[in-house]
Amino acid sequence: MARSKVGILAVQGAFAEHEAVVRRLGADFKELRQASDLDDGIDRLILPGGESTSQGRILRDLGMLDRIRQLIESGMPVLGTCAGLILLAQSIDQINGDGSTVDEQHNSTWLKTLPVTVRRNAYGRQLGSFHTEAEFAGLGTIPMTFIRAPFITQVGDGVETLAEVDGEVVAVRYKNQLGTSFHPELDDDARIHQMLLSM
Ligand code: GLN
Repeated sequence: MARSKVGILAVQGAFAEHEAVVRRLGADFKELRQASDLDDGIDRLILPGGESTSQGRILRDLGMLDRIRQLIESGMPVLGTCAGLILLAQSIDQINGDGSTVDEQHNSTWLKTLPVTVRRNAYGRQLGSFHTEAEFAGLGTIPMTFIRAPFITQVGDGVETLAEVDGEVVAVRYKNQLGTSFHPELDDDARIHQMLLSM
């Protein structure tokens, strides 16, 4: 089988850690920094954590938002982690978990390909970041690092819940799209990346 080439969005946020995991699994990757990088023979995508509002704005300004949406809609496997999950989500709760309100950027700067609703900074100010372990469908127990993470408040038709923590949905799959609230690239467990590579 040909070696996978993962396009890793590298405009903002925690992309270097994803690159290390992908390299460790023996796959190739391409940093996505401008629209032409999307033409470099990539066959799957990683959208890293970071700040989803900034990421969305940068993608729009670089002319990458619509291109990435088209790739996902045409079936390219994608893993969105934390802010990356927010970029994929079809809708966002209007009140964030920390009590602030969502800005008006949503319509122009999100991919909106994944039929779920997310709540940003869902764990509030007090429990901003934490580490836990939980069952992940098909994989067993997975370590999970949450950093000012969203969780999923509604799942649409055809969306499979893959993991829950304290009754909240933190990982889903919909067709070619995988989304996690937590950061699988920060723990020493590559099974979620492996799942992306085998899609
Ligand atoms: N709080 C960030 C956001 O709303 C996500 C945090 C993360 O990616 N670690 O965009």
